[in-house]
Amino acid sequence: MALVWVLVLLLYGLYRINLFFLNYLKLASVFLHTVPNMNDQSGGKKNCFYNIPGEHETQMSEGGEAELHKCLVLCKKNPGHTQFVPVESFSIEHLPRSHRDEHLYEVIKYVADLTVRIDVKMTSPGRPEFWPDTKVPYPFYQVRGSEMLRLGSGRVYEVTKCTDVVGGDGEAVGDRACCCHRCQSSDSPSKVWWNVEVLTAAHVVFDKLEAGNTSCRLFYDTKDSPLYILDMVKIEEVSLDRDWCKLNCVTCDTEIIDKLIRTRTHLNDNWRCVYDKFKTSRDEDRLAFMVSHPHGCPKQISIGQWIKKHQFEDDFNKFTYTTCTCPGSSGATVHCVGYSGRWSRGYQLVHSGTSDSDNNFSGVGRVW
Ligand SMILES: [Zn+2]
Ligand SMILES: [Zn+2]
Repeated sequence: MALVWVLVLLLYGLYRINLFFLNYLKLASVFLHTVPNMNDQSGGKKNCFYNIPGEHETQMSEGGEAELHKCLVLCKKNPGHTQFVPVESFSIEHLPRSHRDEHLYEVIKYVADLTVRIDVKMTSPGRPEFWPDTKVPYPFYQVRGSEMLRLGSGRVYEVTKCTDVVGGDGEAVGDRACCCHRCQSSDSPSKVWWNVEVLTAAHVVFDKLEAGNTSCRLFYDTKDSPLYILDMVKIEEVSLDRDWCKLNCVTCDTEIIDKLIRTRTHLNDNWRCVYDKFKTSRDEDRLAFMVSHPHGCPKQISIGQWIKKHQFEDDFNKFTYTTCTCPGSSGATVHCVGYSGRWSRGYQLVHSGTSDSDNNFSGVGRVW
């Protein structure tokens, strides 16, 4: 009898060990951003998140900032840009009647306040020739190593306070100071600073080298908006497969930080109401909005509908949509109303490109 019990315990032990390794492998696949067995209409091709061939929407400018207005005027994709609404003139009437909701209106305004222009002044020699596991050309492979200005969009996601005693993650870091541009040339650098996380697309900021040549312009609502720049940019996390990237910028400018923290809190509160209100009707209404910097010019709001959801495992999804975009929109966060957004721990949908069938598409994000 004792022998039977020993055997039962042994088998149970083996079963538990097996479970542990299975869970470990599943977690590892999420962290490594390789989600197997996805249902993505790509013929089951391994790891093929890039299942919609198309064009990226980063604005290139050989003539730098001065040439951007010309790019806007000569735009072939959306001549006149009539489907875009400048942030300053956006009102609740721009929403479809079914969605004239005060919380949704506020959410769009707060997303706009957190939207940034991403300026990248160098293209990494490390860019691959093709998107992972495809023969689809990867953006800017042909100009790798060049210093031509490229512009995309992004959104502030998180703001974390740091001091010389305690780091943002709660760890003691000792006698340290802010490393922002201003403090680096100061005899008395600030002992308090903030990490500002910004989401964008991986094809906009590809690696460490490009991040080191990147800056983010905040609050660029009109052509006369004052200049607020975040530099000292580092890559915190990047996924080529999902065309998703999280940057970390450092600043001790309390004027910037106060506004970002206030806006982020309001966005969080309002997004929760919008999620609760539209969750049940989201797949019928299909409203999708975005705030971006078309052609690197002041930010614009676009409202449209999502067309198709390509679903992968673990709530990873990729959407196509009619929501208007132009070169310069790459990396802007895409918001499908009624889906989670604020709480998906950063794995939010970002705009990736536009296809031949005139649909725009996101990278792969985690929304539910
Ligand atoms: Zn355009
Ligand atoms: Zn500083």
